[in-house]
Amino acid sequence: MTTPEVYKRLCDTMAKRGGGYPGRDIPEFYALAMELFLPEEAEVSAAMPRGPFTAAMLAETAGRPEDEATKILEKMADRGLCSSAVVEGTRYYAGPPFVPGIFEFQFMRGTTTDRDRKLARLIHAYKAAVDAQTKSAVLAFPAMRVISVDRLVQSGNQIHTYDQVNNYIDQYDPISVSTCFCRHEAELIDPADSCGRPNETCFQFGFAAQFVAERKMGRIVTKDEARTILDQCEKAGLVHCSQNAQEIDFLCNCCSCHCMILQTALKQPKPAFALFSSFQPTFDEALCTACGICVDRCPGSALALEDRDVPEPNMDRCFGCGVCATGCPSEAVQMTAREDAPEPPKDRQALKAAARAARQA
Ligand code: SF4
Ligand code: SF4
Repeated sequence: MTTPEVYKRLCDTMAKRGGGYPGRDIPEFYALAMELFLPEEAEVSAAMPRGPFTAAMLAETAGRPEDEATKILEKMADRGLCSSAVVEGTRYYAGPPFVPGIFEFQFMRGTTTDRDRKLARLIHAYKAAVDAQTKSAVLAFPAMRVISVDRLVQSGNQIHTYDQVNNYIDQYDPISVSTCFCRHEAELIDPADSCGRPNETCFQFGFAAQFVAERKMGRIVTKDEARTILDQCEKAGLVHCSQNAQEIDFLCNCCSCHCMILQTALKQPKPAFALFSSFQPTFDEALCTACGICVDRCPGSALALEDRDVPEPNMDRCFGCGVCATGCPSEAVQMTAREDAPEPPKDRQALKAAARAARQA
């Protein structure tokens, strides 16, 4: 196979993997792919079976000896071109999409080399080109959701375990933390493009944490340390986001000025639909001093005060993050359960099925 054919096949593979920014047959894809993947890695990536696989399975699909397949896979895992974890004594690999996956893996270490800067420019150019082609697409099903700050939920409201960020910290082991891809990418392109929020804010759980720590893309944290970081994120007005499923393997802490998750939702006609949440804010008129702090902090631009005594939320824009409540000096905001909130799909597979069904409806 010629080199252009190898990268075209990789493009088709990345299109099939889906996720955010899937493979597109445009010049920006090839410029990025040739920087990320050596030709032999592009070939191996295109030969990866769907779902988790061993080096022996890859050796068969790629037509290479197993020791050679192992060497290539190990180098690719070190560079975030595939993921890997040991499950019950056997090492598995998986071919991830660009998002969530390969893009995030590139910047999780938070390094600032010349190659990091080059990659940031190439990734940014590819995302911009794909966005330009897809800007009018309206999401049929929310792929992501917000996990409200659970201590703010008004007493008497039912709060499910999947809505409690603390429950995930209790439940998962190990937990790792790494650099936010989105804020770091922006700073690599332009060091002045910083919103001043903390950068070491992206959590991975279970096998994802094992992979990130093993490949030195992040570090393992204790549960207490994870809670301290979450606290700092809440103070900084960052939004807890993950996939719209009850079982999660990552938790991002997002700002609206840089993060893909929030920016994708905010481009939709109804951000509140695109970013699912089980909660909404309620404002206590007796406590509110109409200071406007929550209006300025709201990442969804969902609040207006104008000449009212208490802010009014636009429920098409409010994604129930609780950032208004964490910043209110008068403790005038509490989160209440949305009566119409459906249960999120159980896991990633159920989420894919729900999204497919919504697209076909
Ligand atoms: S921050 Fe609190 S006190 Fe100030 S306007 Fe918002 S709800 Fe009212
Ligand atoms: S009003 Fe804004 S800050 Fe408050 S929960 Fe809704 S989106 Fe978040």
